[in-house]
Amino acid sequence: MIKIKNSPVSQIDFFGFDLLIKRDDLLHPDFTGNKARKFAYFLEKDLDDVDKIVSFGSNQSNAMYSLSVLCKLKNKKYEYYTHHISSFLKDNPIGNYKHALNNAMDIKLYDDCPYSFLKKNRNLFSKTKKIGKTLFIPEGGRCETSRYGINQLALEIINYKKIKNIKDLLIFLPSGTGTTALFLQKSLLTNNDDSKVLTISCVGSKDYLKKEFYSLEADNTYHPKILEIKHNYFGKLDCQLYKFWIKLQKETDIEFDLLYDPIGLKSLFEFLKNKKINPKEKLMYIHQGGIKGNESMIQRYKRKCYENF
Ligand SMILES: *Cc1c(COP(=O)(O)O)cnc(C)c1O
Repeated sequence: MIKIKNSPVSQIDFFGFDLLIKRDDLLHPDFTGNKARKFAYFLEKDLDDVDKIVSFGSNQSNAMYSLSVLCKLKNKKYEYYTHHISSFLKDNPIGNYKHALNNAMDIKLYDDCPYSFLKKNRNLFSKTKKIGKTLFIPEGGRCETSRYGINQLALEIINYKKIKNIKDLLIFLPSGTGTTALFLQKSLLTNNDDSKVLTISCVGSKDYLKKEFYSLEADNTYHPKILEIKHNYFGKLDCQLYKFWIKLQKETDIEFDLLYDPIGLKSLFEFLKNKKINPKEKLMYIHQGGIKGNESMIQRYKRKCYENF
């Protein structure tokens, strides 16, 4: 059985600050990042009574690609529903879309979706569901089963602290749905670890992210702290962020994802500049993978930002 665990930790100089990077981008050659953590439950579970996995979301999503890897590893059929596939993308497959197709994803439009709960109100669909031999997984792995793999991440961090004799740890990661940040904070606390999780909302306002937290966990003692730092949400391409991403790569020799990490790391930098550093406190950033999606993001950024360089 394949198990994913024990990703390494890199120590880097982050524009003058010491930063630990938890390298979940290196978990496994194909199955990486926070989507691998979220779907680890299904990787390790015996899925003999499942012959097909169905999910939905954007046509370049990291979760879409990771599920294609899962289905390939577990030898399941894979059906995925999305809003729209442009004829340009169909003719020129790239990024997560291309790699998921290579893993035999069957991608279709919501218009052709026979499952009414995915057609309407799919935002409310936040529990995995099994109908016959078909397993339905919510968009982006925003569901309780994700706790299993994220708990493993928490245990690795706790173990790292022990080995390195770290007392105070501040953990930072950028959020989409907030599932990873929330379950990480909850797992740390339930394992009696007092590391604090800090995050930034990349897809909507702070209030949007708060709501996501409450929909997953009513008890707000488990909620991570959300930083309030102004930035563009990721639907909007920001050439400054692209520039920052290029600089990051030069500075750190690590390839980060282009959707969440530029917002995450830029916000972290702003936070560190304004913070009084406690010399005993260590700081860890979680690299949540997503590198396969960079190809298509670079193409979009080049189209938009070329003349600005
Ligand atoms: C999905 C994803 C996120 C967001 O994760 P959430 O659990 O939805 O907050 C962040 N970074 C990368 C690279 C991702 O693929």
